[in-house]
Amino acid sequence: MKEKLEQIRQAALERIVASDALETLNEIRVAYLGKKGELTSVLKSMKEVSVEERPKVGQMVNETRAVIEAKLEETKARLAKKAREEKLKKEVIDVTLPAKKNHVGHKHPNMIALEEVERIFVGMGYEVVEGPEVEYDYYNFEALNIPKGHPARDEQDTFYVDDRILLRSQTSPVQVRTMEKSRPPIRIIAPGRVFRSDEVDATHSPSFHQIEGLVIDRHITFADLKGTLEVFAKELFGEDTRVKFRPHHFPFTEPSAEVDVSCFKCHGKGCRFCKGSGWIEILGCGMVHPNVLRMCNINPEEYSGFAFGVGLERIALLKYEIDDMRLLYENDIRFLKQF
Ligand SMILES: [Zn+2]
Repeated sequence: MKEKLEQIRQAALERIVASDALETLNEIRVAYLGKKGELTSVLKSMKEVSVEERPKVGQMVNETRAVIEAKLEETKARLAKKAREEKLKKEVIDVTLPAKKNHVGHKHPNMIALEEVERIFVGMGYEVVEGPEVEYDYYNFEALNIPKGHPARDEQDTFYVDDRILLRSQTSPVQVRTMEKSRPPIRIIAPGRVFRSDEVDATHSPSFHQIEGLVIDRHITFADLKGTLEVFAKELFGEDTRVKFRPHHFPFTEPSAEVDVSCFKCHGKGCRFCKGSGWIEILGCGMVHPNVLRMCNINPEEYSGFAFGVGLERIALLKYEIDDMRLLYENDIRFLKQF
């Protein structure tokens, strides 16, 4: 019996010393000390030992168990330490390695132009408001003095959802919505996306952006409109920019005008940029038509106002001297990151 125990002890210790993983240690524990382990089976065969011998053998079994357990614990601690050190070694940070480059996104030229326009008008006390892109025919046309059958409807190729609903072809419906909701004085700009069934080319797109402006108060005159847009043009294109108002026609304003600014490249001498004329068209504007005020329950005898509409892409193209509007929508990162 004594020899058998000695054999078990030797074999167990050898296996423990040779093991190089915590899992192997567990297997050894089960093989020797487990319910069906070798040491346990020795205990089970105690009945073969004579009564006098039993306490002695029992003590030897316990000693053997203790030795094996101690060795297991010791080895376990050693292996755990080794594993921790290896892990730490793997996690060492080499501070001399070159850093990974993070690509930081940045603003689209449209957005830069919009923020610039907003900054100018907010500085003059305007509020920025928004309206729905899917709009009622009423707000997009009828309330803007463009009844059914009006020729102005043909000039804008509109996407209709059904008889009453369309994708707004201009940001002007926000004027009507604002006048319905609030009383004068009103001073707003309304930037947003508009839709027209245009073919895509260098200057057209079925979806683009406008910035609408509206001022309603007592005693607002065309002089206020001219002064406001002159400040706007100078802020946007430079202090020496001159502004020219050309008579025009829009159904929702009377009188109406188109506004040109002096070419900021050639300062009016004429160049490729302004097609030799020295002037660049930037927006349409006018005094709000009394019919539009009446539709919104504002008394045209008491109040007057002006409105204007600027193409956002047009501003971005001019400011950054981009000659093809499609570049603004292709989102080619090599193009966009120049701004
Ligand atoms: Zn020019």
